[in-house]
Amino acid sequence: MQLVLLGPPGAGKGTQAQRLSDRYGIPQISTGDILREHVQEGTMLGIKARAYMDRGEYVPDDVMVEMVMDRLDNPDADGGFILDGFPRTVPQAHALERALERAARPLSAVVKFDISDDMAVRRLSNRWGCPLCKRTYNLEFKPPAQDKVCDADGTGLERRADDEELTVRRRLAVYSEQMAPLERFYEERGLFRDVDAQALEELVATRTIEALKGLEP
Ligand code: AMP
Repeated sequence: MQLVLLGPPGAGKGTQAQRLSDRYGIPQISTGDILREHVQEGTMLGIKARAYMDRGEYVPDDVMVEMVMDRLDNPDADGGFILDGFPRTVPQAHALERALERAARPLSAVVKFDISDDMAVRRLSNRWGCPLCKRTYNLEFKPPAQDKVCDADGTGLERRADDEELTVRRRLAVYSEQMAPLERFYEERGLFRDVDAQALEELVATRTIEALKGLEP
């Protein structure tokens, strides 16, 4: 199964991607996570990407396409994958389509998670994550057992720099600018599956499985 997850920041793409990855045994490919690793390691890509990320803007398409194509070449993606955060623009969608056509494994579906801007801001301003295992928590909806400590490995939780409210508003604006043409692109190909993501994690997970009925391996 080759899946793309779309939705604004805070829609729960990462959380649902992780669950789908466990369920279907295929990797979650999060472009945001890959970029943050590059930033942390101080690679050339990380240095270049950081300025965009700090402003809540998109990293240029050519950089993103090269990074994702490299990642898809990894053998763990041979049996399928879940793209979380890519494509975000029409040129990225075209590049992905061409690459998958060459490999004769077209996308199975594009799941779009819908939430309101207010809910996105509310979720992101309470989001904390584990720097080690990447689990995310929400102090309001899904708090860890011990304050700001990861349930799984005891690591202190951190906030993402770009989850600060002004940057979140910028990220939401950039998302809505790019979304309409991207939506048209996938609508024309009949790949869309909409999921109302304005609910707790478990319910959104059930809706997602429902939306993917008929595609399961
Ligand atoms: P995310 O973790 O998906 O919210 O991504 C964090 C940031 O990484 C975004 O705000 C962008 O600056 C950058 N980014 C991630 N994926 C992409 C992409 N497909 N195209 C452009 N920029 C991206």
